[in-house]
Amino acid sequence: MKDKELLREQIREHLRLYSDLGVRWLRLPEAKKKTAARRQDKAPAPPPAATKAGPPPAAYKIRVDTSLFEEASATKESLDAIRGDLKDCRRCKLAPTRTNLVFGSGNPHAELMFVGEAPGADEDAQGLPFVGRAGQLLAKIIEAMELRREDVFICNILKCRPPGNRNPETDEIACCEPFLFRQIAAIKPKVICALGTFGAQTLLRTTEPISRLRGQLIDYRGAKLMATFHPAYLLRNPNEKRKVWEDMQIIRDYLRSLRPSNKS
Ligand code: URA
Repeated sequence: MKDKELLREQIREHLRLYSDLGVRWLRLPEAKKKTAARRQDKAPAPPPAATKAGPPPAAYKIRVDTSLFEEASATKESLDAIRGDLKDCRRCKLAPTRTNLVFGSGNPHAELMFVGEAPGADEDAQGLPFVGRAGQLLAKIIEAMELRREDVFICNILKCRPPGNRNPETDEIACCEPFLFRQIAAIKPKVICALGTFGAQTLLRTTEPISRLRGQLIDYRGAKLMATFHPAYLLRNPNEKRKVWEDMQIIRDYLRSLRPSNKS
């Protein structure tokens, strides 16, 4: 019974993300079609409503044994294509006040992806994520993990700077989030590191405080998600750096455990 609930929740999660990505149809693999057909042979005739023309409900067609990222990779969408889609984005009220859209930067095949909140003044001026003081600290954290900035991909929930660095608003997130999900699907990271309360709560759809979310790898849409404190918060509260370092070690060890030489 518990397993069924879990499965239901996983299917719901998958469907939510497919919907975010604009996917309306999922192909049923051949083998499953045959199984489904065999089942239909044995089953009593479906009620008339189920035989009407038109797509069956998505839940009938979803494959739960495939991660979203494998499914989305079938479309082979590149980061360039996603950037091209954004163009000179005017989808939300941040467009008139921004200088540059900050798409994100780094390795398009990164195993590790950092997701912050929104560009600040420096990022807005340069069109690059995490280039201000918080960005310099993030660069040090990445180095401490024995990675280079160009090994990872860095982006934000929002692509444009909210005026005066105010918190992102719901309508802005709703406009921007599908592009983030498409970036995640294109990159297929093994780990997503959500920086700060805002990024973590938005991605995980929760109001749980970051202090409770951090410190563990959470299953997230075919990858793992680590929530941790935002580097800007660490600049104000340097005593918390130790906790972030613990979180980064968990990520580093997990990524290392996936390397072929470490697999049994
Ligand atoms: N803070 C963020 O959340 N993102 C940036 O790109 C810079 C600062």
